[in-house]
Amino acid sequence: MRFEVTRALDAIERRLSTDPLRTGAVVDLGEAVRLAELDGGRPAQLIRVGLVIDALSRQVGDDGVALYPVASRGLLSDTDLTSNERMVIRRWSDDGLVEVVPAEVPALARVCEAAALIGQPVITRAPLPGYAGVRFALKVAPGGAALEGGLGTTPKRHEVLGRRWQCPVPDCASFGSTAGPFSGGAVRDGGQPPPQLVRGVPCCPRHGERLVDAGSQPSAVPMVARIEGVVRERFVVTEGRPVSVGRSPDDRAGVVLGPYLDGEAVRRVSRNHLRLELRGDELLVTDLSTNGTVVMSRSGPRAAPRPIGLPHDRPHPLGEWDFVQLHQGVELSRADRQSAADGMAQQQSVMGDAPTMAIRMPRP
Ligand SMILES: [Zn+2]
Repeated sequence: MRFEVTRALDAIERRLSTDPLRTGAVVDLGEAVRLAELDGGRPAQLIRVGLVIDALSRQVGDDGVALYPVASRGLLSDTDLTSNERMVIRRWSDDGLVEVVPAEVPALARVCEAAALIGQPVITRAPLPGYAGVRFALKVAPGGAALEGGLGTTPKRHEVLGRRWQCPVPDCASFGSTAGPFSGGAVRDGGQPPPQLVRGVPCCPRHGERLVDAGSQPSAVPMVARIEGVVRERFVVTEGRPVSVGRSPDDRAGVVLGPYLDGEAVRRVSRNHLRLELRGDELLVTDLSTNGTVVMSRSGPRAAPRPIGLPHDRPHPLGEWDFVQLHQGVELSRADRQSAADGMAQQQSVMGDAPTMAIRMPRP
């Protein structure tokens, strides 16, 4: 059983991040591990965070989306968790996968601040009176947990996110100089977690130190390519770096969809089908194809899409909830603005390896 728990925690670990380019929601880790009513197990249990990840995946229709966990330092000594669980959280913190805030900072307050700054929902059962951002509430559902809610306004990018920040504490896992998950890796340029604003001054949420301005941070938008309902590619469009998408783009840094296409789609999707670029905060799509590109325009996650055929070789601004259709079933959308309505053909649970003895899942 210990082996199974380890494997489940490994699956969960791959879906934790404090890089907003990878995440889809922010959660108080201390609250998530104590959601005993979801499964009727021990009062606190670390693999329970997997139920929250699965619920988020179902909500946004993306089984690669990551969760941004914030933990109070007190959780590292919470004896309702096993010593192994506490050790795992400590490792996740050192690796920058969990943001651990000082014991005197309420984790949920930092959760709300981070979520509002990066424009992603908070997942909590707390009512959050007066909170203007998007909130998902967790509820017990067949197979684990589900989210409900999600209405609210998405803020404009805060000016503090336009700068790159550095923490004076050596090897800071959130705002270190070179080390950490933000140097290289899958996401080019990497995202940075949002600073904590103390009376308007950007500070490190882990250390409370004033952050040093390390230059400008180009804006960036995370995107997914979805083929027949399954997310096949994740990529980032960064200001000043257009991205080509197609069956086999000439640009070596382009997004190659060919391997995922079959039948009619192979003939209809061009080698160089379209180009995405970011000017300021505006995302533009330019059709370069033989058979055309359609933008499905939506005012929100639950709005019915309205098709707009794109003129050839002329940039068209993409709304935050719009998705782009290269062909029926071949779609691009913002990774952080998806909804399950976009369709999802399969979902991989991070709880696949969780031992049934450790956590009792409600029957589907
Ligand atoms: Zn720091």
